[in-house]
Amino acid sequence: MKKEEGACLVCGRPLVYFEKAQEMECAICHGKFRSCASCEAGHFVCDRCHGEQGIRDVIAYCMQSSSRDPVAMMQEMMEDPYIHMHGPEHHVMVGAALLCAYRNSGGEIELEEALGKMKERGAKYPGGSCGYWGCCGAAVSAGMFLSIATGTTPLSGESWGLSNQMTAEALSDIGRIGGPRCCKRNAFTAAKAAVRFAQEHLGVVMELPAAIRCTHSPQNRQCLKTHCPYFAG
Ligand SMILES: [Zn+2]
Ligand SMILES: [Zn+2]
Repeated sequence: MKKEEGACLVCGRPLVYFEKAQEMECAICHGKFRSCASCEAGHFVCDRCHGEQGIRDVIAYCMQSSSRDPVAMMQEMMEDPYIHMHGPEHHVMVGAALLCAYRNSGGEIELEEALGKMKERGAKYPGGSCGYWGCCGAAVSAGMFLSIATGTTPLSGESWGLSNQMTAEALSDIGRIGGPRCCKRNAFTAAKAAVRFAQEHLGVVMELPAAIRCTHSPQNRQCLKTHCPYFAG
């Protein structure tokens, strides 16, 4: 699924850059923007629509994967050029990988419907909430996974408790490592907590890599390096 960096979302041609910003119409949402770039054929795609491409790629990947390992799945998805080093697309990715691995490990869900809910809910969770709200979106995404897998609503009983406990456990693991934020570190940590939680409370056994080794440190200026449990050196 790896695409060439900087290729047009509409036609795949390379992007060209102008010296002066011009009024452009987004080829996807038709909004008007000032921009210094288009593709060679003149297509322009705005930042918001560009971000949505990452989420579309996540859902498409999870629809076809037979993996039982949500971390290995995320590591592959993170190679997609529309998945940025940090960004709210991770709020969909964590729960989507978990739903797919859960289904592939015998969890009884209808995957396409479940991923549709994950996309709708995860995409609403704002970037930066880890710092501004004290509640990282990767942990919330794990809670959304539990909620969707168990069909939880605000009126549910036992599964309502489990969904909130799921978010709490992931958030606690994330918080204990400390900041600054890293969407890769938080995603791995939340998925690990969810694999443990689903085994204990839902009886579904997913898989994890023997060791999680991050390949994104060179792209992350705030990397904790040796203080991160996934730092590869
Ligand atoms: Zn184009
Ligand atoms: Zn747009």
